[in-house]
Amino acid sequence: MPERFDQRPLATHGLFDYHVHPNFSIDAHGTVDEYCERALRRGLSGLCFTSHFDSNPDSDGRANRMKVDGEILPATVSNMRPYVEAVLAGREAYAARGLQVLLGVEFGWYPGCEPVAERLLNTYEFDYVLCGIHELENICLCSGHRISRCYSRYDSIEFVRQYFHEARAAAMSGLFHALAHIPYYLRYAPGFYGEDMLNHHIPHIDLLLEACLRTDTELEINTSGIRHGRGYYYPIESIINAARTTGVTVGRLGSDAHEPDHLALDFDNAVRFLKPVPPVALS
Ligand SMILES: [Zn+2]
Ligand SMILES: [Zn+2]
Repeated sequence: MPERFDQRPLATHGLFDYHVHPNFSIDAHGTVDEYCERALRRGLSGLCFTSHFDSNPDSDGRANRMKVDGEILPATVSNMRPYVEAVLAGREAYAARGLQVLLGVEFGWYPGCEPVAERLLNTYEFDYVLCGIHELENICLCSGHRISRCYSRYDSIEFVRQYFHEARAAAMSGLFHALAHIPYYLRYAPGFYGEDMLNHHIPHIDLLLEACLRTDTELEINTSGIRHGRGYYYPIESIINAARTTGVTVGRLGSDAHEPDHLALDFDNAVRFLKPVPPVALS
């Protein structure tokens, strides 16, 4: 049985969950309707669906796929249409009940992905586009069964250097509203390399924040580290503070829900980090 997380209505009103995977993501469960019903019960004002779009043709394993009606398909621009239509139908159905439903996507970064990203973003009118750095040199850095294959190619210093190199390239592309869960390696890498990984970002963070500032790319506050048992968010507090100091926007919460039970996880605590930002404009 999956662990049950706090399902009580939030004490904080007016919140959105900006990072939600419905069952179009191969690793997620829950329909658009099931998420919207849960969002209403939890007292969210809105949610943004951000299904995965991982399209690296050289990806090791089966990451570059998506799910439509339970069928696993390659992640292509045209295969995203049923997802887009389901979210837009949800937007219409739930508007009358006071829930704002946003259309988003979590684009999986890889070197050279920009033309695909542009095609995707020109095809659909996304309200919000996250970029997730999920792979290094074609191997997933954040799925339990692939991490040793990914991590064993580097020492911890080189691993982190490469991660931030890709994160900075994603920010510099200027294609995305926000970078997701920076730095996501904190989910598994400390277990592989050791807990001092928590400080390895320090030589790289300024360059990343400078790129974010230059391209107006936000960092989300991703609370999934709580359900991963890490006890922190991605980014950790020191990075949130550094981003704030630099002027990078860190203003939206995302639970990275992969099932409705994950929605808005720990938002009443995470809200202390929020500085008001304008709502996402509907497409
Ligand atoms: Zn992600
Ligand atoms: Zn995600």
